[in-house]
Amino acid sequence: MALFKPKMRIDKMIDITPEMMNSVGIKALLLDIDNTMTTHDNPVPADGVEEWIARMKSLGFILMVVSNNNGERVRKFSELLGLEFEGSARKPLPTGFRRACNRLGIKPKEAAVVGDQLFTDMLGGNLLGAYTVLTEPYELESMRFFKVKRACERFIMKFWRK
Ligand SMILES: [Mg+2]
Repeated sequence: MALFKPKMRIDKMIDITPEMMNSVGIKALLLDIDNTMTTHDNPVPADGVEEWIARMKSLGFILMVVSNNNGERVRKFSELLGLEFEGSARKPLPTGFRRACNRLGIKPKEAAVVGDQLFTDMLGGNLLGAYTVLTEPYELESMRFFKVKRACERFIMKFWRK
């Protein structure tokens, strides 16, 4: 179960501070969209996201979107925020993350994968050898498939508190 385990758990992406990332040697952050920067399929970023991105960029962090959602969704959302992106990333396969690292010219261990799901973001990031940061989802999904997934996540997370 260690492969699902995030290195850090926070409430929202915008709670990540430059100090946190500097202390673990992170140069680039690979960001999930759905339920990490806004609710599912919402074209508008959540409050504070744009400001957080501007601040992190101004301090020299490289930010890139890596999302499993389809190309159009990812392109529009990323362009709105002025970010480079990898769509249809097929997380938890590390392929999309690896492409992102190659494009940015960084090593996986210099990257932090930020996302709300254990079975895609955290597993993929850990398989890649990146630092992993788990956020709380903005909104719990109503689809049955997701409900099962979230229940499995809660089951796994129970073991970490012991
Ligand atoms: Mg997500």
